[in-house]
Amino acid sequence: MTHTIKTTCPYCGVGCGISAAADEQSRHVKIQGDKNHPANFGRLCSKGSALGETVELKGRLLQPRVYGRETGWDEALDAVADSFIHVIQTYGPDAVAIYGSGQLLTEDYYVANKLMKGYIGSGNMDTNSRLCMSSSVAGHKRAFGSDTVPGCYADFELADMIVLIGSNTAWCHPVSFQRIRAAKEANPALKIVVIDPRRTATCDIADLHLPLAAGSDTILFNGLLNFLSVGYASRTAHLADMPVSDTHWGINAYAALNADYIGQHTEGFAEALACAARTVKSIAQVAAQCRLDVADVQRFYEGFAGNEKVMSLYSQGVNQSTSGTDKVNAIINCHLATGRIGKPGMGPFSLTGQPNAMGGREVGGLSHQLAAHMDFCSAEDIDRVARFWGTDHIARTAGLPAVELFDAIYDGKVKAVWIMGTNPVVSLPNADKVKQALQRCDFVVVSDCIADTDTTALAHVLLPAQGWSEKDGTVTNSERCISRQRTLFSPAGQARPDWWIISQVAGRMGFGAAFAYQAPVDIFREHAALSGFENNGRRDFDISAFAGMSATEYEQLLPIQWPVNKTYPQGRARMFDDNRFFTPSGKAQFIAITPRPPAHAPDADYPLILNTGRLRDQWHTMTRTAIAAKLNQHKPEPFVEVHPQDAAYYWLVQHGLALIESRWGAMLARVQVTDGQQQGNVFVPMHWTGQYASMGRMGTLVNPVVDPVSKQPECKHTPVRIAVYQPVWQGFMLSRQELTLTAPEYWVKIKGGQFYRYELAGQNLPDDWQNWAKAHLGGGAQTQWQEYQDAGTGNYRAAQLRGKRLESVVFIAAHNNLPERNWLTGLFDKEALDSQERRALLTGMAPLGVPDVGAIVCACFNVGENTIREAIKAQGLKTHQEVGQCLKAGTNCGSCVPEIKALL
Ligand code: SF4
Repeated sequence: MTHTIKTTCPYCGVGCGISAAADEQSRHVKIQGDKNHPANFGRLCSKGSALGETVELKGRLLQPRVYGRETGWDEALDAVADSFIHVIQTYGPDAVAIYGSGQLLTEDYYVANKLMKGYIGSGNMDTNSRLCMSSSVAGHKRAFGSDTVPGCYADFELADMIVLIGSNTAWCHPVSFQRIRAAKEANPALKIVVIDPRRTATCDIADLHLPLAAGSDTILFNGLLNFLSVGYASRTAHLADMPVSDTHWGINAYAALNADYIGQHTEGFAEALACAARTVKSIAQVAAQCRLDVADVQRFYEGFAGNEKVMSLYSQGVNQSTSGTDKVNAIINCHLATGRIGKPGMGPFSLTGQPNAMGGREVGGLSHQLAAHMDFCSAEDIDRVARFWGTDHIARTAGLPAVELFDAIYDGKVKAVWIMGTNPVVSLPNADKVKQALQRCDFVVVSDCIADTDTTALAHVLLPAQGWSEKDGTVTNSERCISRQRTLFSPAGQARPDWWIISQVAGRMGFGAAFAYQAPVDIFREHAALSGFENNGRRDFDISAFAGMSATEYEQLLPIQWPVNKTYPQGRARMFDDNRFFTPSGKAQFIAITPRPPAHAPDADYPLILNTGRLRDQWHTMTRTAIAAKLNQHKPEPFVEVHPQDAAYYWLVQHGLALIESRWGAMLARVQVTDGQQQGNVFVPMHWTGQYASMGRMGTLVNPVVDPVSKQPECKHTPVRIAVYQPVWQGFMLSRQELTLTAPEYWVKIKGGQFYRYELAGQNLPDDWQNWAKAHLGGGAQTQWQEYQDAGTGNYRAAQLRGKRLESVVFIAAHNNLPERNWLTGLFDKEALDSQERRALLTGMAPLGVPDVGAIVCACFNVGENTIREAIKAQGLKTHQEVGQCLKAGTNCGSCVPEIKALL
């Protein structure tokens, strides 16, 4: 029987609400956007829409494993507890660690943090959120005294200008992007500025794109602070000696600076402005250093100055930098200087990457945090949390942040680590060293819902955690909105909630009384009570109104923005609307920013800058999204974007293969030549793993250097070199069965609807292609083979049929002159091929008159490029809306609209 449940999407920080019609018996779920959820009002992107395809049991970790042997929970939990106790007794509490994830629910996170920091007595609990937004946390803390996102999504519709900085919102936060697009369509006066070295799909709605030099954001925003301050020194007696010159900035003062606000509610303006004025003297200098047009910089500055309701939305392009914290504060400085914060339609706004990055921050998931927005900087906080938890084992100092933590594992200082719901062997910088660290580690525990990942492969103990459709708890999205994630299905196999697993280990370690939780609501109540404990308005995070909530109230909890307490029983849309900050003085802090270049500049050996990021249809390390066939069609292979002039210089050709190397590792990727990329810069996606590609892990390349304040790694700026990778042969196989490959140098596995696709390239020719193909594809006596071989050209093509049903094909060529895959893949949907199709099989091309949809553009409705082109031509379509009416393409999540517009 189908029942409809309100839950939330487990992917990005937009935190969309979902209305899921789930059938327990068939384990089938129909996904729709929740029309009442304030994050999305019914919209979902391609990833959220495809969630129903990811709940299958194939590939799930269903039973605990100890040293590779399937076992029961008791043995596995004993093994974890005994090993942790042994390491702690032998080497001390700092020899163990937990590495968590923004995928964990708040309740799971809370218990993990309490165990490590409160009872084991080490600060060594960090999370993959370190890679995502710790610079925003640090920037908020410096400016506001608290890790507070001031505004809300509703501000998108109220703004006059939205500045998107270091954010491909169209692909990484698609529903927020659609909301901004809709706001602009409703109000064409809304100005959109995109600040990003790349021209991304987000630029589709931009009035102005500033393709600044990678890492030069602080110069741009110091310049803006200067610009906003023109004339201010002469108007303000106590700043009369400020080194600001109207002449250098060359324009009239806009009176955008809010002297009253600065005077009454902030501190440090004079120092910040003096520093900005010292480091940046004119728009021409800004333009030169950021490698932008003077007129464009001026247009941006005038727009910012001239529009009261300005929002600055920023994401990983800002955070993932050795100047990440400074970039955040340089942006916030401009909002404080204009008093544009805490009011409708304005403010700085960090777009968080993960579904529960914010929840993790609330419970203290980062190693310098304690819990409930308290941290190790304050002896009072430590004492308060210890008293609340009733422990005398509490850690007194911050633990190791992610990169240092895995270095410590590599060096043998941390001897036991428990990794929860994340895949650091793929996602951390210098990922090969991370792999070696885990190979050298005495004891590795991994809790995950997926059996085979690059990280689970290295675990001594594997613990089956519940997956998204089984979990029960809460998450917090980018706008501080707490939502319920609810159970759709009973757990797969022996899978258990993370909070239960952690509590069971805690009990075996002798801390049972403090971890006697029976249900997530018990944990949520305790978390809420801690947030209000001795708070009295001193800490921003306060959800004490929930401290006494019943199980029914928890079950029925509707999305609500924290704080939720006596003062704000219905939550609070905007923080700082009362001009009160959480610093000792109650005033916001300007931070003087001295721009610094990225840690390592390109040089003769590694002359290019590597940028990394997300794609539209994949999530993190693909463990779940790659299960959904429709999400694999848009970008099926790891690729590298290269500017045309760089491509020409390095002899790279479109769709050829390239070897990218840094001082830390190497990667193979398909070349995409695009002038959206700056010359001297290349971009690779972050998603591919050792499970899906032979050499597609971008983390192997990335420089492990970190921001000195936030400890966030510089994932957007690694010096690399690139060269043509010229295999001896290339090819592809399509098969109804998943195959085991005998290691060609380059392979990529792509799951399709009724088939698996393997893209291949090798340096060594097999003795005999026929034997090679049959060894891989099998088949037996009941299958028939069609084959074609041309020894002169090196071409080999074969198809295997069972009766009239296609089982597999293999196409090999000396060069990349291979047919498109779309027509062939479509044949796997058929139970029987007709004679025309069978005859055409080895050509790889559709018989005359049979349509080939081309590369998939719209993942939601499976609409291909050829279909769109033909409809545009045949029907004279002029707008993406007309294409949508005709083909439905672009009418669900809208993420492909920029590509449809490009085809138009
Ligand atoms: Fe999920 Fe997409 Fe919404 Fe992000 S934008 S929460 S991935 S549906």
